[in-house]
Amino acid sequence: MQVIIIVGGGIAGLSCALSLHQIGVPCRVYDAVPTLAPLGYGINLQPNAIRELTALGLGERLAAVGVLTQELAFYNKHGQLIWTEPRGKAAGYRWPQISISRGELHKVLLAAINERLGVQAVVTGHRLTSFEERAGKVIARFADPTGKPAGEVEGDILIGADGIHSAVRRHFYPGEKAVFDGYLHYRGIVEAPPYLTGASMVVVGHRHHRAIIYPVMKRPGGKMLINWLAYTKIPPGSPPLEAWDTAADKQACVDQYKGWTYPWLDVHSLFAATPAKDVLQLPNVDRDPIPRWSFGRVTLIGDAAHPMQPVGAQAGSQAVVDGRVLAAALMAEREPAAALTRYQDERIAAMNDMIIRNRNLGLEVILQQAEERAPNGFKHIHDVLTQQELESTALNFKKAGGFDVEAVNARDSFVELPT
Ligand SMILES: Cc1cc2nc3c(=O)[nH]c(=O)nc-3n(C[C@H](O)[C@H](O)[C@H](O)COP(=O)(O)OP(=O)(O)OC[C@H]3O[C@@H](n4cnc5c(N)ncnc54)[C@H](O)[C@@H]3O)c2cc1C
Repeated sequence: MQVIIIVGGGIAGLSCALSLHQIGVPCRVYDAVPTLAPLGYGINLQPNAIRELTALGLGERLAAVGVLTQELAFYNKHGQLIWTEPRGKAAGYRWPQISISRGELHKVLLAAINERLGVQAVVTGHRLTSFEERAGKVIARFADPTGKPAGEVEGDILIGADGIHSAVRRHFYPGEKAVFDGYLHYRGIVEAPPYLTGASMVVVGHRHHRAIIYPVMKRPGGKMLINWLAYTKIPPGSPPLEAWDTAADKQACVDQYKGWTYPWLDVHSLFAATPAKDVLQLPNVDRDPIPRWSFGRVTLIGDAAHPMQPVGAQAGSQAVVDGRVLAAALMAEREPAAALTRYQDERIAAMNDMIIRNRNLGLEVILQQAEERAPNGFKHIHDVLTQQELESTALNFKKAGGFDVEAVNARDSFVELPT
């Protein structure tokens, strides 16, 4: 019987632990923070991830605390519609797309761990400091929040699910730096009346100035909790930023969106109505693709393996899929190293491709094309971008991410349990 050490209790680590439990492989999750709190604003789970989370028995719980996304719509800075497409079940998937607060998603995963694996399955206040493979085992060493040694643990496999600043990844790629592209996101969350379908994700503007907006939860009285991201270029010479969420200058953000008042949504007022304490900032960082994730009995999943820019709502979904493909590989291969290689080989090329696609704006590239071809707006979008260009951009991105309707509907789960 193998025992697996998972480093990191974020979305990748917790969902992976649930998958390992489902296939009967014992594991324990270690996280650096003293307490796992439900942190973060909006995150999207595409139907490929919801399929897997449904196979873990969590589909209904997630639907109850999220929003079943109906459409994804792109507008230029004048508020003109460039492209809209149905999403989730409205697009013919067997599973929905769910826009959700990351905190709520985290809570659902943690509650399921506590119920199924027990509270002892997640160990907090344990920051991984080093590890080594010795005599067919992996030894992991931890420090407590004050930096003092917190002991060592032995396992058969170590999974690095420790996010964009992964210590496990650093062990294999020392000196590697996060790549900052000079843009800052402001993130906000605010209660407001529904807009468009009531479950619409909208992306507005162009590469240098854009906003992504979507509801993540129904509130009493017919209002919605609406998540937004606003992009701005940092003045040259500003210090590099690496922290996830830090307090932001709300007014500086709001001022940049003056005039973004459209018949379908008053973006400027939405931002202005957001309580200042709920506006955070983070740098647009990712990392270069790497050639290997799996080294003997150690591998990487989620942001530790493929940290990507938040384009096309991929990071959360792909983190879930990683854990599922890894669990399936562990069922298929007897030897740990062979299983980890199998998992890597199934995932790495597509995820490395996605990192680069997202740097090039992914499916949001149509915003930039519309801006370059018609900065003052258009009479008809087809004067600027053909239907074929629009359709193929959308479809190609979904195919690259493994979440086109055909691919998702083709199976019930990556993990096929014996009946
Ligand atoms: C606090 C926080 C807020 C976020 N908010 C959002 C959001 O609003 N929207 C969004 O789209 N994405 C958000 N993300 C990122 C998002 O969760 C990921 O991009 C995606 O879900 C992949 O998840 P992950 O588990 O790979 O990484 P993460 O969710 O980042 O989880 C990594 C985990 O590893 C732990 N960890 C790090 N280093 C160590 C170490 N040395 N030893 C042990 N544990 C370690 C961290 O404490 C964290 O719990 C947030 C991440 C964090 C950590």
